[in-house]
Amino acid sequence: MIDTSKTSRRGDTGRDKSQQEVSVIDLSKLPIEGLSLAGSSEFVQLEENEILRDLNWRMFVQPSKKDIFFDVQAKAVYEGACCRCLEPIDKPTSLRAQFLGSSDPNLVAGGSHTLGTQDLDVVYLPEETLDEEVLIKEQFILQRPMQLLCKEDCQGLCPYCGKNLNKGQCQCRPDYNRTPGALAKALAEIKLDLKP
Ligand SMILES: [Zn+2]
Ligand SMILES: [Zn+2]
Repeated sequence: MIDTSKTSRRGDTGRDKSQQEVSVIDLSKLPIEGLSLAGSSEFVQLEENEILRDLNWRMFVQPSKKDIFFDVQAKAVYEGACCRCLEPIDKPTSLRAQFLGSSDPNLVAGGSHTLGTQDLDVVYLPEETLDEEVLIKEQFILQRPMQLLCKEDCQGLCPYCGKNLNKGQCQCRPDYNRTPGALAKALAEIKLDLKP
């Protein structure tokens, strides 16, 4: 076990990434039995208003013929905004991913590759070196849900007055404030009425 967390945390200057050292793996010098790595990062920018905070990861990296097998586990706190009500989101998130890294574009174009009994996704790694943090960040982006919600049944904002409907109904027409379920039911009843 090589603990790279110390090097990646050096230069602890809040959110100034410029002074942080990165943990880079030399993929051409991996031991045949594989390598266990761990690291952490105070924050990683995903998009303009989205970050991962308190990121910690562990990964196992093993050469497999010309390719490289990765088993990655990571935890972080996700900071962003709910895509329905725009309220800030601050929630713990984790990921577990196993995949194959390859410098062969043809293998990558195939999408997945069978290793033993596993069908693994292939990640394109054209360089001989790899920044652990960049790899982890990409996995979080890949596994990010299409819609990030503050809660599964977030009611969103009223399209007319902009009120956050999780905090109560507004004074607009009641039709617009019905839950999606009630609205669907109402629509279904209208269809029945139209039957000859
Ligand atoms: Zn929401
Ligand atoms: Zn309203």
